[in-house]
Amino acid sequence: MWDLDESVGAIVDKFMVGLKRRNPGEPEFHQAVYEVAASVMPYILQHKQYRDAYILERMTEPDRIVSFRVCWEDDKGNIRANRGYRVQFNNAIGPYKGGLRFHPSVNLSILKFLGFEQTFKNSLTTLPMGGGKGGSDFNPKGKSEREVMRFCQSFMTTLYSHIGAKRDVPAGDIGVGAREIGYLFGQYKRLVNEFTGVLTGKGLAYGGSLIRPEATGFGCVYFANEMLKHKGEDIAGKVCAVSGSGNVAQFTVQKLIELGAKPVTMSDSGGSIYDADGITQEKLEFVKDLKNNRRGRIKEYADKFGCEYLEGQRPWGVKCDAAFPCATQNEINGENAQSLMSNGCTLVSEGANMPTNMDGVGVFVKSQILYAPSKAANAGGVATSGLEMTQNATGLPWSREEVDQKLLGIMQNIHGQCVKYGESGAGVDYVKGANVAGFVKVADAMLAHGAV
Ligand code: GLU
Repeated sequence: MWDLDESVGAIVDKFMVGLKRRNPGEPEFHQAVYEVAASVMPYILQHKQYRDAYILERMTEPDRIVSFRVCWEDDKGNIRANRGYRVQFNNAIGPYKGGLRFHPSVNLSILKFLGFEQTFKNSLTTLPMGGGKGGSDFNPKGKSEREVMRFCQSFMTTLYSHIGAKRDVPAGDIGVGAREIGYLFGQYKRLVNEFTGVLTGKGLAYGGSLIRPEATGFGCVYFANEMLKHKGEDIAGKVCAVSGSGNVAQFTVQKLIELGAKPVTMSDSGGSIYDADGITQEKLEFVKDLKNNRRGRIKEYADKFGCEYLEGQRPWGVKCDAAFPCATQNEINGENAQSLMSNGCTLVSEGANMPTNMDGVGVFVKSQILYAPSKAANAGGVATSGLEMTQNATGLPWSREEVDQKLLGIMQNIHGQCVKYGESGAGVDYVKGANVAGFVKVADAMLAHGAV
């Protein structure tokens, strides 16, 4: 057991040595665990029931990992192969729940980090959902509709026996949107001959929830506004740097516009646009069409509206009051964090999962700006997935207003939990608050279940 005479830092370091030994070559997973371990360890050491149960070791070991070959036929008639995964991380508080990511970078380290984060995030939502994540190194970019459909069907042909409305409920993530969810759902329904809420993010015509597409972005802005309100301020009038141009970024920008803020950037893997006049709803509609229908590059925005294009760059060097990283993991390093702050940024709300690397988090936490880690700030997406599950289970769909109101209430509740566990004389440490609040519920459930 822990040597209580040692410093917390030394105990965390020892814990990490063991974790790295058990999970070699998985840097993203190590990073996600370290961030949690560093903030919950003091709490664990103060509470005998957690300290004596090796609870963090149990929590960092996924319940189960399914790994499988996905064969599919391309348009030329060749049989191609990719790897598929589902990481069922923890179901102490509810069925496994979390997205599927289709991206060439997908590997076990990334899916374990995402599944681990998801467990804490889902705990924060107050809804009964465990944590899971899955996906494939398949790259939907440049593939035809038919190729994507055949891939999704093949992926589900193996996955279906491991999931279910009460067992494991996948959803979308990077590379998996409404189109892919439709194909995956169609194949599941065909295989089990049952119509269930086995996936979320479904189309409205077949059991989806209103506001689900908007939820991650809307929630991320609601959370930012809660942080500001806690200090007697408001998001209205703030100049905001947003990264990404997919689903999360689009609805982050939309909500910022609605609340009177001024989003000035968006990006993709090619570069960033900087529109100092502000991205309006009309310009955003252009981005939605560009990205969702034409699958084009963000550079077209700069060409069309005549604004600055920062080739090959992320938008962290522009003047702004607030930043909303909504692209992918580790898109802000220590240098970017410094640059944001020296350009006036005093708030960061993470729409993507773990977009700030360890150095960057260190910079934000030390400077005591308002920094909302992804497991709190982007929990609105999965929370609304939880609301979709409830609507599916009862057979009663809710109105736009009802879902949006519930989403806002959940984001306010998460903010409250972060304040409860993260407030000190110096202000609210949202990293500590989110990690400890997420941890307590899962740990208590695991202890109640005994040695399982
Ligand atoms: N992929 C999203 C996330 O990272 C949503 C997951 C879900 O709705 O299950 O939280």
